[in-house]
Amino acid sequence: MMWEMVIGLETHIELSTKTKIFCSCTTQFGGEPNTHCCPVCTGQPGSLPNLNKKVVKYGAMAGVALGCHINLVSKMDRKHYVYPDMPKAYQISQFDIPLCEHGKVELENGSVIRVVRIHIEEDAGKLIHEGGNYLVDYNRCGVPLIEIVTAPDFRSVEDVLLYLDKLQGIMRTIGISDCRMQEGSLRCDVNISIRPKGAEAFGTRTEIKNLNSFTAIENAINYEFERQVEILESGGQVEQETLHFNSDTGETRSMRDKENANDYRYFREPDVVTVRLSQEEYDEIVASMPELPEQRLKRYVEEYNLTEADARLLVKYRKVAEFFEAAADIDAKSAAAFILTNIFKSVPTEVQREEWNIKLSAENFRELVKLTAEGKINKNIAKRVLDRMLETALSPAEIIEKEKLGGIDNKEFEAVCRKAIEENPAAVADYKAGKEKALQALIGYVMRLTRGTANPAETTEELKKLLETV
Ligand code: ADP
Ligand code: MG
Ligand code: ZN
Repeated sequence: MMWEMVIGLETHIELSTKTKIFCSCTTQFGGEPNTHCCPVCTGQPGSLPNLNKKVVKYGAMAGVALGCHINLVSKMDRKHYVYPDMPKAYQISQFDIPLCEHGKVELENGSVIRVVRIHIEEDAGKLIHEGGNYLVDYNRCGVPLIEIVTAPDFRSVEDVLLYLDKLQGIMRTIGISDCRMQEGSLRCDVNISIRPKGAEAFGTRTEIKNLNSFTAIENAINYEFERQVEILESGGQVEQETLHFNSDTGETRSMRDKENANDYRYFREPDVVTVRLSQEEYDEIVASMPELPEQRLKRYVEEYNLTEADARLLVKYRKVAEFFEAAADIDAKSAAAFILTNIFKSVPTEVQREEWNIKLSAENFRELVKLTAEGKINKNIAKRVLDRMLETALSPAEIIEKEKLGGIDNKEFEAVCRKAIEENPAAVADYKAGKEKALQALIGYVMRLTRGTANPAETTEELKKLLETV
């Protein structure tokens, strides 16, 4: 039998507010364990949570970006569970009235994923297993999260990866999260079931908790799909349960801890007032939305004639897109090529591209693209200048001057071309006999004498002109 996978995702994204959701502790990643804490985020008796308005704004921005309806009035609820990562024994979340509902994400392969809801909530602390003991770090406790819940609309691993990639791009562009899976600021619960291909009814699902890398997500889905197929094909039944994925063994196993009793005894959080956005605040959020990666991509293809593949790479990181746009009006194609082939080589990782802390300033980059477009330096020289700019933060003019890459003046250039003709009689004879190719030898000669600084087009033209008189 052919089986089809059916997947729904619950994605947690840490918001990049400066302070936590209910107190003024920092949200900064890392730090000595238990130093970013106070009585509120560690749930001390008598402490009172005070909702950070920015969290509501960021949550609503996420909703608007995903085409959601925003509930201007929503509320916070307590979700109870007993586990050492949450000292209050409940998490403040949103239950029946979430901040955002009914959005969608369209994927580049044509799949459409419905977003059921987005709610705001607080993160839990982190358990660290060390030398047979469990240690707990509460720095992350109270860091604001949004949870984005989709309908069971994914039908393949590809769908899931495209969705997460797109989500990352959108959230980074609107600036509400850095979405770094390796730092836990984007984590996924994968709900998965299988059904015979063509069937309508869904099968029983399992939920794989807290996956935090693209590889883990892919491996966990593939493993769980196979496991469920084996169960059903041998006449068994899939049990609805919560699973943990072990990325070392590549297997899922049943989790016998906090999510076992799925009774969270939700009730309204009495210490946090109703969550409100005014119509004006909502309008302001909508009006101030930046151009999203999808729109940007379309514009790069239409306005700048870039290939979709190149445009996609540029719009993935907001700072890269802005850097590109600093020079795109001069020569978009070569600006894109410089970034994608030369600069990306020295900025190889996701994090580096997202941070874009490069020595080369947008102004100097623009200047380089301009010099190239005007034919003042050729592409090869431009690449050498670019490499130096990435190391030194100097301007192109300074580098050209320092490294003597500026080439020679017109008079000298003509002399070099004449010399090429005098010293290569064989090539000249071939050219005269109609072998256009022989010109290459002469051009190569000029390039050697000028250390590659001559412009190939100018050289060709000059040589042809001189050869007419020979
Ligand atoms: P719960 O409230 O018990 O967590 P939800 O209905 O909110 O259940 O669903 C949680 C997630 O599970 C959603 O992302 C949803 O799309 C997904 N889901 C629900 N049913 C299935 C199914 N049969 N197969 C795969 N995913 C499912
Ligand atoms: Mg759930
Ligand atoms: Zn605190």
